[in-house]
Amino acid sequence: MQLIDIGANLTHESFDPDRDAVLQRGRDAGVVQMVVTGASREHSPAALELAKTRPGELFATAGVHPHHAAEYSAQCDAEMRALHAHPLVVAVGECGLDYFRDLAPRPAQRRAFEMQLQIAVDSGQSAATRKPLFLHQRDAHEDFVAVMRNFDGRLGAAVVHCFTGTRKELFECLDQDWHIGITGWLCDERRGLHLRELVRHIPAHRLMIETDAPYLLPRSVKPAPSHRRNEPMYLAHIVEELARDRGEDVATTAAATTATARAFFRLPAPHPPALHGSDPQAGA
Ligand SMILES: [Zn+2]
Repeated sequence: MQLIDIGANLTHESFDPDRDAVLQRGRDAGVVQMVVTGASREHSPAALELAKTRPGELFATAGVHPHHAAEYSAQCDAEMRALHAHPLVVAVGECGLDYFRDLAPRPAQRRAFEMQLQIAVDSGQSAATRKPLFLHQRDAHEDFVAVMRNFDGRLGAAVVHCFTGTRKELFECLDQDWHIGITGWLCDERRGLHLRELVRHIPAHRLMIETDAPYLLPRSVKPAPSHRRNEPMYLAHIVEELARDRGEDVATTAAATTATARAFFRLPAPHPPALHGSDPQAGA
């Protein structure tokens, strides 16, 4: 089984003590490639620096999350554009709108979102060459769709990451031809139950999986780690639950989400695992 975690906040300080071990555990669980989320002025350059340390395995996004929208100055925009010149930065975002927490004023959120959509527009000459978008939307669906529609015909592919919305919102996203990212929110018996039924309606070529680590530890992981930190290895648990809800075997869901993610972010095939002395094939 080969999995791609399309959203992992691996520059988060909770990974500072043991980041290499976290990456190794992910690899051991079948996570062959990961897209490191860049979500602020501070963490977007850090995501690129981390991706550079493991070419072919780690990739980065660069963007400013709506929580940080107040920091989106002209200087910040220039910094984001500079990051997007690097080929390891494979998507624009995380950007979008969050009216659930409202940590930044809504007009500032909309402005930062629009500025980043313009970066995506400017990143290529056509939909086929423009960078894809890694989008965040919470409790802001109507405004989110309205902002996106102002850019109709000028954007490439887009994924609504960590989708948690309603059936109506899901079908509106699919009608716009957006991709859907599913996290361990699915495994939350308090607030994710509605997703259990909805996920079967997402076409395989629009569906991708993500941990959003260190956030959103799947609540059905047993035993739950005492520190409550999520990490890429739990993607294997998420895809099992997702496959069950879709009525597929896990190999089918894993292969389809991996193929969709690789096409969406235009990732190369992963390097073959290094041959070690203990490999029974190696000495033949
Ligand atoms: Zn998000």
